[in-house]
Amino acid sequence: MSNRTLSSIRFGVMTTDSQRHLRIAIIGAGMAGILSAIKLTEAGYTDFTVYEKGDSVGGTWRENTYPGLACDVPSQLYSYSFAPNPNWTQPYSRGSEIQAYFTGVAQERGVIERTRFNDEVKSCEFADGKWHLVTANGHEDVVDVVIAATGVLHHPSMPDIAGLESFGGKSFHSARWDHDAVLDGARVGLIGTGSTGVQIVSAIHDRVERLDVFQRTAQWVLQMPNEPFTSEELEGHQDLDVLRDNHEKLSVAFRRFSNAVIDAESEETAVIGAACLFNLEQNVADPELRERLRPTYTAACKRLIISPDFYEAMQHENVVLVTDHIAEIVPQGVRTDDGVVHELDVLVLATGFHADYFVRPMKVIGRDGVTIDEAWKDRPLAYLSIAMPDFPNFFMLNGPNGPVGNFSLIEVAEMQFAYIEQLLAELSNGTAEISPNREVTLACEAERAAAAAKTVWMTGCNSWYLDDRGIPATWPWPFDRFRDAMAKPNWEAFDLVSATQRGPR
Ligand code: NAP
Repeated sequence: MSNRTLSSIRFGVMTTDSQRHLRIAIIGAGMAGILSAIKLTEAGYTDFTVYEKGDSVGGTWRENTYPGLACDVPSQLYSYSFAPNPNWTQPYSRGSEIQAYFTGVAQERGVIERTRFNDEVKSCEFADGKWHLVTANGHEDVVDVVIAATGVLHHPSMPDIAGLESFGGKSFHSARWDHDAVLDGARVGLIGTGSTGVQIVSAIHDRVERLDVFQRTAQWVLQMPNEPFTSEELEGHQDLDVLRDNHEKLSVAFRRFSNAVIDAESEETAVIGAACLFNLEQNVADPELRERLRPTYTAACKRLIISPDFYEAMQHENVVLVTDHIAEIVPQGVRTDDGVVHELDVLVLATGFHADYFVRPMKVIGRDGVTIDEAWKDRPLAYLSIAMPDFPNFFMLNGPNGPVGNFSLIEVAEMQFAYIEQLLAELSNGTAEISPNREVTLACEAERAAAAAKTVWMTGCNSWYLDDRGIPATWPWPFDRFRDAMAKPNWEAFDLVSATQRGPR
């Protein structure tokens, strides 16, 4: 029997004395870190620690607390498949409810006890066949495997606008919401009309004296109702079979969307465009405002905005749409190119994130001293978003160039973790080091970049999906291809180092 067969028999099921003991570090206690801890425990791995820079779990759902925060993936789909939640109060739940869900799952499944909070991993260095971690508190750990569950959009991008520091009122990024800022009765300016900005408009427009919305590029908006579930529906959700059925139906519906956006010419993309156009035409009464809100690119080229009521909010009497280019920020507010100073008490920057940071600013040093900054000097690169050449036994969840804009990230992370579990089984079975082959990684990346040309994300708009070459850093193929790729590692794509090859250190 080959080693491979032995290893698959052992995978997640049997442990024997001959198996190599693995110590594992999970970095990040957000959605993917919690998932990793639960799945490791289920598979019988007991020697692991979760490192979390914050004081609680939840990742993006802990860090973002802006008014209107919600998820635009339906909650019954944006739930772990193994932890359906019968108590979601509405189809697209609020951020606080999502954060409570992740906290609850982490508490119930013993993740909290495995987590070192307020302990950011500052560096990870591969030496003598192990990863050596140092945290901000000076704590050191030596592990066989690192699972980086460090999230995607978590480094705020501040706009490069002259005079930003000179503003006299309170000014902050949407992901660093200042809850001491008084909104009620205030003159509030909002820069940015992405998913975040749109949610903020809907949430605060009727609390403020005036809301100036600074729009650089108009957005296509898909209207989705989000009425709270009725008591009958909530009762129905107590039946786990109903919930599982709903999860599957939503997943199938989402796959249709995922498969649409990878082909700019597809009929489904046209249907999405027509639905957005209908929303604009039907729901914005003033023709002049309608034209200023009308995008000039294909719908879904930028991340599609899902909102039940954005246009309604934009027509509220105290909301002002400003489309003139911002010249500078002055102490009194925002001055636009036409010379007008839009006087403000509070300025909110919903200007997005650095989408290419990934595991950084953590210092990661792989084989032969190569750093992640060197390896990614052009742009982030990974084999199937999971692993990197020269960084053995270092695995990522929701890493570079994966399905970020088109699938539910929970579904993605679950499939990726099942794949990583198979790599762990191989390591348990005695293989010392696993890293993807460089040539294979480069060939896969070239194939991915070529396939991206057909997607809607490359039809002529600017968005955070695009890398420095203008190529979308996301999965350009159908959902099924991703699921198949995640089902089983293609071992030919990996360089495996056996314990004998590595020799004594
Ligand atoms: P974003 O989509 O990157 O939008 C940033 C906005 O800021 C854009 O409107 C952009 O204008 C504008 N902007 C940036 N720099 C500017 C400048 N110097 N002057 C004027 N305007 C400027 O960021 P986001 O809205 O935070 O969303 C990021 C992603 O987070 C989303 O696409 C989504 O994946 C995720 N998210 C998800 C949810 C959810 O419900 N699941 C909610 C919020 C966020 P241009 O369009 O002209 O570049």
